[in-house]
Amino acid sequence: MLNIVLLGPPGAGKGTQAARLEKQRGMIQLSTGDMLRAAVAAGTPVGRKAKAIMERGELVSDAIVSALIGERLDEAVESGAIFDGFPRTGHQAEALELLLAQRGRKLDHVIELEVDEDELVRRITGRFSCASCGAPYHDDFKLPKVAGVCDICGSTEFKRRPDDNEETVRTRMAEYRAKTQPILPYYDARGLVRRVDGMASVDEVAAAIDAILDG
Ligand SMILES: [Zn+2]
Repeated sequence: MLNIVLLGPPGAGKGTQAARLEKQRGMIQLSTGDMLRAAVAAGTPVGRKAKAIMERGELVSDAIVSALIGERLDEAVESGAIFDGFPRTGHQAEALELLLAQRGRKLDHVIELEVDEDELVRRITGRFSCASCGAPYHDDFKLPKVAGVCDICGSTEFKRRPDDNEETVRTRMAEYRAKTQPILPYYDARGLVRRVDGMASVDEVAAAIDAILDG
């Protein structure tokens, strides 16, 4: 039973890898955003407290996030956990260590999917899709065989997602750095950080993560 923290900016493929680990290894992804919404919807004691705070427009405290993770860890006793979006501060990292220790568990690895920012911008801003059937294309990697005509359905209408622009990608990268910078030194000092090239193919990234987990 392994417990890992998975780090990576939007577009690094973190969601894909987490979903794969859940399916192939039975691990459970503990994403704080999803967990908060689920706890509020289920009306758990922590969820009711969090709901009242959010309704006042305030930020949910570290103590509540920790309690929420504790609730979910108790449900996920037999399977390993993938922490996503938590911890975000050194204080939260200490809280997580305590939560795991109280349950006779520990954090095994902090896996960071590293990206090259310029390459990430190129990948994301080049994406577009068929407006009719949704087939994915890319300016650099996968243009339709006949210019302006969808390979799959023959439509000549294409669309781009509004967030797939350079400014948004760079803003998200900056947010990611700001959130991970406070915790990486904490985990580096404990020798837990393993870095994986997030720009490799999905299968290569999967193989690199599996090598760490099985190593
Ligand atoms: Zn199409």
